[in-house]
Order: sequence, then structure tokens, then C-alpha cells
Amino acid sequence: MDGQPGSPTPELKLYNTLTREKTVFAPIDPQNVRMYVCGPTVYDFAHIGNARPVIVFDVLFRLLNHVYGGDHVTYARNITDVDDKINARALRDYPGLSLNAAIRAVTEKTEKQFLDDAKSLGCLEPTVQPRATDNIAQMIEIIEKLIANGHAYTAAGEVLFDTKSMADYGQLSKRNLDEQQAGARIAVDAHKKSPGDFVLWKLSSESEPGWESPWGRGRPGWHIECSAMSGRYLGDVFDIHGGGLDLIFPHHENEIAQSRCAHGTKVMANVWMHNGFLQVEGRKMSKSEGNFVTIYELLHTEKFGGRQWPGDVLRVAMLMTHYREPIDFSIKRLEEAERLLSKWPAAEPGDAKPDASVVNALADDLNTVAAIQALHALAQSGDRATFAASAQLLGVLPQAAEIDEAVAIEIDRRVKTRLELLKAKNFAEADSIRDTLLAEGIQLKDGKDAATGERITTWEVKR
Ligand code: AMP
Ligand code: ZN
Repeated sequence: MDGQPGSPTPELKLYNTLTREKTVFAPIDPQNVRMYVCGPTVYDFAHIGNARPVIVFDVLFRLLNHVYGGDHVTYARNITDVDDKINARALRDYPGLSLNAAIRAVTEKTEKQFLDDAKSLGCLEPTVQPRATDNIAQMIEIIEKLIANGHAYTAAGEVLFDTKSMADYGQLSKRNLDEQQAGARIAVDAHKKSPGDFVLWKLSSESEPGWESPWGRGRPGWHIECSAMSGRYLGDVFDIHGGGLDLIFPHHENEIAQSRCAHGTKVMANVWMHNGFLQVEGRKMSKSEGNFVTIYELLHTEKFGGRQWPGDVLRVAMLMTHYREPIDFSIKRLEEAERLLSKWPAAEPGDAKPDASVVNALADDLNTVAAIQALHALAQSGDRATFAASAQLLGVLPQAAEIDEAVAIEIDRRVKTRLELLKAKNFAEADSIRDTLLAEGIQLKDGKDAATGERITTWEVKR
């Protein structure tokens, strides 16, 4: 744990979809707190609904970093770069290229756009961002285990998970198999043992992308990739698994089935967290409704409300509602977020710690509504550095968001070196560091620590 004097570790409470209860979070290993969030399928621009889990779990990542220390948290968010929607898009957009080249063109472009969007929304980069196509061998390994221990079977060119082989299948979504069977609308595919059985691997035709496997050249089903990547980067059992609530069934239910049956564990992740859905101006967002907005369009075009909106405005607009509630996204909401942001000072956190009022609000199942209220009160009440540190915990400090985390660390390091040079009376080299930073647009401000009288230096980006 952080263990800083004067910053007591708050008790972190999280609502767990698995138990339908809010309970105190106890990591398996406080030295390495592990979180997995399902990432985008990279075939098209991410829409503002997709921005919600990205922002919500970024706030949780920041909170975990604060509580356990940045070196003790591993956040994995995958990139789904194998999917039949991607194939269709590749054929449509790049008819002149070979299928593999066309797929790569679609996925690389879309992945880059997604990362740009996430950055514009003030999100830190996850610790690891594995791609599905780099983890095919891991998927094959899990499928082999499932076949070997009687949880999967091959039929009609597919490998299927045998849902009946798992006594407590359906724990997360609280669906039971017989109810599903009774549902008249589920067509029983003739080759499946039970209608709920799902694809782990399917054969590819020559015109479809594929990888060699013990079952022939084929491609993975959707769910298996997250079992493979979470297992590889976080272990057979980890702390938190997140995503939007549409993923509870079938995606997360089936991830659990695969991972638990392959590894013989009682759980896959201890805590399952799901964000609520976002609709736009009172209606479900859809292309046919004409209210479909991508993150890119909101930030860089005049499609929504006739103007561009800054990333931090979208971020605050999102966090003004608790993550489990539905959001009705609107121009009014964005305007409200912008008004709020305009009242907050630009400031540098320096060594300040986030205020307990903000930390405690977030520690209560990410109550960002209360956290924003507390932050607003801090903005009014004076201490700029504490305000800035608290704003940073929510990821809404515009100045900090403009500077890359890695760049900021590097600047801090050079500022520290300069202080050491000054102490050693090596003024020429110290001045040279200051001048180089200034040439890069970083202004240093020297001052004295009120308590110790020691020289301290803060920096800011010149606009
Ligand atoms: P997808 O690309 O559809 O798999 O979605 C990526 C992530 O965005 C998943 O975690 C979804 O649950 C989430 N998501 C998709 N649509 C919305 C929405 N309208 N509101 C909130 N989250 C969404
Ligand atoms: Zn997933």
C-alpha cells in the first residue's frame, strides 16, 4: 500500500455483479492488484457509448494506483482484432488488397484512432493492451485443455463449449440453462448438444482469415480471447473484471465458463463490474435513428450541437452520473459540464495529495457524482495544489492531461537533477537544464518550502 503518512488508505467498496452486493475490496495480492476490461473490436470508430467504460475504468485505475501505489496495479485492456465484422469491413474498404493486408489496414487504423480518442478523454494507458491475434496460441492451449477435461467437443467444423458439463454455469447472469432451453426463440443448432453451447473455434474457408490448429485452419470464437489474454497477463484468478452491462451475457458468462473449467478454479475474477448504458437525447443510439455519435465526431467535428467539444468536457459529462446508472447524453449535459469546468482553476498538484473528500467519494463504489461535488467545493475553498491533485485522481486536470505521463515523469527527473546541481553549486549545468526545459516550453518556478526553508521547484507548461 501507499502508506504515505497523513494519507490513510480508505476502505474501497465495490459493487460486484457476481454477488449483487457492494462489498469491501480485498485484493488477492496488494503488491499486484489486477484488473481486466474488455476493449474495443477494431473495425470502426468508437462511439460515445464505448467511451463510458474507457473513462469509468480509467477512474478506477487511477484510484487503485492511489491506494496501492502505481507500481502495484496491472490493468489489461484487450484489442479485439479478429472478428467477422472486421473481415467484412476489410473487403468493403480495401478491395484491392489481399485479405490479410486489408484486415491489417482496418485494424491498425481503427486501433490508432481508439488510442487517440482515449488519450483525448484524459485516460491513462492501461499497463498492457494485448491484441487477440498475438494470443492465438494461448487460446488454442485453453481449448485443448477444455477438450481434454470433458468441457468441450467438436462438431460440424466447430469446437463448442459444453455448457451442461459445468454444474454452476450461469452464475453471473443468473440464467439457468433450462430457462434458456424453454425460450422458444433460441433455435437449436442441430450440431450442438445444448442450445447454450458456444463456439470456441471454427474452421475458416480459404477466403477467411485463419490459423493452423489441431482442428484445422480456423479462427477463435469471441469469448475465448478474453480468457486467454486475462490468463496470460493476470493469472488464472484475478481481482477485477469490467465492461458494459451488455457483456454480462453471453460474453462474461462464457469467459467465466472457459477460464474456470480450463484452470479448475472456483472463480475467474473476484469482482465483476459493469457500467450502465448511454443513450442520446432520450433514445437508444443507432445509425438509423440519426443520433449515432462517435468520440471523434464529438471532439473534432460540429455534428453534435453544431460545435466541437473538448475531451475533458465529455469526460466530466460522463462522470456526472454514477457508472451503474443509465446516462441520457445531451447537449444540455455537455454545457453543464463545460460550465463546471470553467469554474475550476488551472493548477499544478506539486507534492499535494488528493483531498480525503474526493478519495472517500470514489472509494464508495466510484461515486463520481459526489467526487465532482467535493472537487467543486475544493475549487472554491482555496488550496490549489490539493484541488489539482484531487482533479488528477478523476483525470480532469486539463493541464496535466495535455502532458504525457511519461513526459511528466521525465520533466520531474530533470527538475530534481537541477536541484541537486544547485545544491552542489554547479550553477552552469543547473542553468543549462532550466534553459533547455524553457526552450521545450516548460517554465520552472523556484520557491521555498515554508516548513523546512528548503528550495523547491514547480513547473508548468507555457501556453
Ligand atoms: P463493443 O465494441 O460493442 O463490444 O463495446 C465496447 C465496450 O463499450 C463494451 O464494454 C460495451 O459494453 C460498451 N458499450 C457499448 N455501447 C455502449 C453504450 N451505449 N453505453 C455504454 N457502454 C456501451
Ligand atoms: Zn471480454
